[in-house]
Amino acid sequence: SHQTFTAPENALRDKVILVTGAGDGIGKEAAITFARHGATVILLGRTVAKLEAVYDAIEQSGGPQPAIIPLDMKGATEANYRDMAATIMDQFGRLDGLLHNASLLGVLSPFGQIDLPTWQDIMQVNVTAQFMMTKALLPVLMAAPQPSVVFTSSGVGRTGRAHWGPYAVSKFATEGMAQVLADEYENSNLRVNVINPGATNTAMRSKAYPAEDKSLLKTAADIMPTYLYLMSDASSHITGESLDAQSR
Ligand code: NDP
Repeated sequence: SHQTFTAPENALRDKVILVTGAGDGIGKEAAITFARHGATVILLGRTVAKLEAVYDAIEQSGGPQPAIIPLDMKGATEANYRDMAATIMDQFGRLDGLLHNASLLGVLSPFGQIDLPTWQDIMQVNVTAQFMMTKALLPVLMAAPQPSVVFTSSGVGRTGRAHWGPYAVSKFATEGMAQVLADEYENSNLRVNVINPGATNTAMRSKAYPAEDKSLLKTAADIMPTYLYLMSDASSHITGESLDAQSR
């Protein structure tokens, strides 16, 4: 299955893959893993020092030279995404993979106490920014032979849960966006799928569950088989799926 997929060393050779939130957590691990399998990785995120550290790690391990796009998805406009798409088209001529990974958790709270600015920030970063970025990048993706778009959901993007408020709602929207796109591009080479990482030891997980024993959690490295599967040509026939990166 995709959870135990073993990618050949060169599985992503000649692929250009953009990872959002590439400076930390799952996105950082995905960027380094994709580069190790031969991909030229475009590192997008808001904290430049973290992106530079990932860049250096990839260079030091002999991977293809990455690119960095500093961008705060909270404030970015359609013009920013259009410029970004033009730059990628100029520099690479195509985009083979797009991993929508960055997201905001916000504050867990009862529904009656969700404040509007928090709601709006989460919708902006987790939903609207993904819409704008995907829209701008569609022509660049369609210039690739087997383009793959991967969105990141959550258990609370499939079944609502008390106190998960705007984060849960944003993940339902993410699942919906992926389904709409997958259906629309069904008769093309573009595939669109979703990953639910499952509980993974990152800063976001610690914020949601500060008291738990982190040593019992899967690491970002543990869940990479599903990411490699969806970015490699092994999944070229898969679209409109929502996959769990961990077995239950
Ligand atoms: P982290 O919070 O550890 O990392 C998220 C990354 O996204 C960070 O690098 C962060 O940047 C970046 N980011 C956040 N906001 C913005 C923004 N406005 N603009 C640009 N970049 C931004 O999260 P995880 O690695 O845990 O999560 C990755 C994905 O997996 C998310 O979509 C999350 O919802 C999902 N997920 C995670 C689970 C888990 O257990 N960890 C479980 C289920 C789903 P910076 O480094 O500057 O903070």
